[in-house]
Amino acid sequence: MTGLFLIRDASMKTVAIVPAGGSGKRMGGGIPKQYLPLGGIPVLVRSLQAFQSAQAVDEIFLVVPEGDIPEVQKTVVGRYRLSKVSQVVAGGARRQDSVKNALVHLREEHGIVLVHDGVRPFVSGGLIQRVIDAAIAEGAAALGVPVKDSVKEANAAGWVIRTVSREGLWLTQTPQAFRKTLILAAYERAAADGFCGTDDASLVERMGAPVRMIPGDCHNIKVTTPEDLVMGEALLRQGLLEKG
Ligand code: C5P
Repeated sequence: MTGLFLIRDASMKTVAIVPAGGSGKRMGGGIPKQYLPLGGIPVLVRSLQAFQSAQAVDEIFLVVPEGDIPEVQKTVVGRYRLSKVSQVVAGGARRQDSVKNALVHLREEHGIVLVHDGVRPFVSGGLIQRVIDAAIAEGAAALGVPVKDSVKEANAAGWVIRTVSREGLWLTQTPQAFRKTLILAAYERAAADGFCGTDDASLVERMGAPVRMIPGDCHNIKVTTPEDLVMGEALLRQGLLEKG
């Protein structure tokens, strides 16, 4: 990738869609995981702050459960001065529906669209920039880390069917970034075919368009279960120690 490919049209804006419309059932009921505090600051706020601080991101479209919108406007967007949040959109039944609800708010001037789980609070500015640069140069990019463990396929009773080669396998993270025309076409095709994927890149892949994997960071965890929160608190303490 050379600097030449990364020159972007100044009129082309970058928008980050942050889906946080889930009810967080895997966290064991109660408050949805995106609102839980991590080092005293809600997980979702930490995720949003990364995009608020990223120079290359112009706007943020936040997706939350419909009934939460007024409270989120006040206690998340207002309280933490997240001035780049220009839309707070109602979520849908599945993550893909939530992202789709945000895509309808894209405008002519948007060129690059990022999608980032609201429950990944440790994403860094460097990772955001790398995935944007890759999308500008190559159309679609996703962060990920190569698989380190042995991978086995097992049946419902837990018996191993086979060991899968981990060669070339990645665990995929967010943010994922796309040229706007590509992600819009991918979502349109998925809707027409009734396809639901586990991430946004998979919708682009099934159109036959190339997606570039960008090495992410093992700290860029998704806070999904109570153990992830414990891990998150440990990562925060480590970060504080490293900063001195
Ligand atoms: O459920 P999962 O861990 O895949 O959720 C990833 C992100 O998608 C979370 O931030 C969650 O709030 C969001 N989500 C959503 N709408 C849904 C389900 C999940 O925005 N219906």
